[in-house]
Amino acid sequence: MEIQSCGAAREVTGSCHLIQVAGKKILLDCGLIQGRAKDEARNRDPFPFDASKLDAVVLSHAHIDHSGRLPLLIKSGFTGPIYTHTASAELCTTLLKDSAYLNYKNTQWENKRRQRKGKKPLQPLYDRDDAAKALGQFKSIDYGQKTEIVPGVDIRLSDAGHIVGSSIVELWLKEDKLQRKVVFSGDLGHRGTAILKDFTMIDDADLVLMESTYGSRLHRPWQETWDEIDQIAADIRKKPGNVLIPAFSVGRTQNILYMFARNYEKWGLQKWQIFLDSPMAIEATDIYLRHHKLYDKEAAQFWKDKGSLMGMPNLKFSRSSQDSMAINKIQNGAIIIAGSGMMTGGRIKHHIKHNIWRSNCHLIVTGYQSHGTMGRKLVEGAKSIRLWGERIRVKAKIHTIGGLSAHTDQKGLMDWYGNFKSRPPVFLVHGEADTMEVLKAKLRGELNAPAHIARTGVTIDLNNLDQYKDTE
Ligand SMILES: [Zn+2]
Repeated sequence: MEIQSCGAAREVTGSCHLIQVAGKKILLDCGLIQGRAKDEARNRDPFPFDASKLDAVVLSHAHIDHSGRLPLLIKSGFTGPIYTHTASAELCTTLLKDSAYLNYKNTQWENKRRQRKGKKPLQPLYDRDDAAKALGQFKSIDYGQKTEIVPGVDIRLSDAGHIVGSSIVELWLKEDKLQRKVVFSGDLGHRGTAILKDFTMIDDADLVLMESTYGSRLHRPWQETWDEIDQIAADIRKKPGNVLIPAFSVGRTQNILYMFARNYEKWGLQKWQIFLDSPMAIEATDIYLRHHKLYDKEAAQFWKDKGSLMGMPNLKFSRSSQDSMAINKIQNGAIIIAGSGMMTGGRIKHHIKHNIWRSNCHLIVTGYQSHGTMGRKLVEGAKSIRLWGERIRVKAKIHTIGGLSAHTDQKGLMDWYGNFKSRPPVFLVHGEADTMEVLKAKLRGELNAPAHIARTGVTIDLNNLDQYKDTE
């Protein structure tokens, strides 16, 4: 009985862990590596196991860094079931098809470059048919439902409070007389986030795999974020023009729409035309609306009182590119929410081109912008940007809202692990190496936890857990 990390060990993307028990092989997550071109090229490496010999996959949530290599797994011969929460399966329908399309587009672009260098063209990692096949192998389950996925392996999913459908996975493993319970955190949400409940506390495990994305950081108090948003709303009222909000399609967009609906009068939103200009975000919003049973108390009450979570009479969904282009004619009074979140692609780029040079335009940045992205340049105060070969002046006012992260912070991770009564060995996954070191020291120092950092290709032996119980 053993676990091997095949990805997201000392990095934040490409989540993938292999469990072997009683001759069966179970994969936890099968995520795409995202980031620099050099890292993404590793998505083409063969899996370190025979995909056709896997018995089942358990998927913690729909984000592409957890689900994005599933179509490739199917292409490599996997024919078994993929267990995940119902909402995650629905989100994957949108996300995996989009991922196949992006892959195709990126490969086309890469091949032009390769051609000029006299190199052989690449095939896309997978296509829409592979994605559709993967979706056909999904088996939806709900939270709290203990399910036997192969003989000797039961699982149960609990709310991880990260995006809709996100799950903590408990696994009960049996091999001859040996029984072990493994708990995989998946991605744990930021407590107090709008719409979703806080992550579930679990109290027993023989071994824990825990994410560590923000293992070295504390989020600021929510009140500071709310005050900041009120200030931005006041600023915009003083100098109204078009407002651009780049946002990730899943999670962030729905949080923003819900915040708008809640503060509709306070922020004077009735005077605006609000556009959700992203087919993917529109689909994700539908999924959030369908799963009202997963809302936290506040959102459930709001939904009950208003009959809707994000309903506003002046909210328009623009699906087609004609709808999107029509927004360009509006010079004042439009609030436009569109992807991508870091302004590296998608419809937001067109809106930036048409608006960023206006002094009454407002751009509201709601999430982390990584190095080298257009979002980062704008946040850092670029005086001009280059779009489709054209240099465009930046005259818009750039606002940033901190504190809307979808991941819990160090305190949240410490509290979640701290709830396990017997202090089981914990292996950190899904984090940058230096962040993991900080969290490991904190877990050992404050909770006397036998904390370790998972390494790619290194096996955790579940037969002999005593070897992982040192806390020095
Ligand atoms: Zn995630």
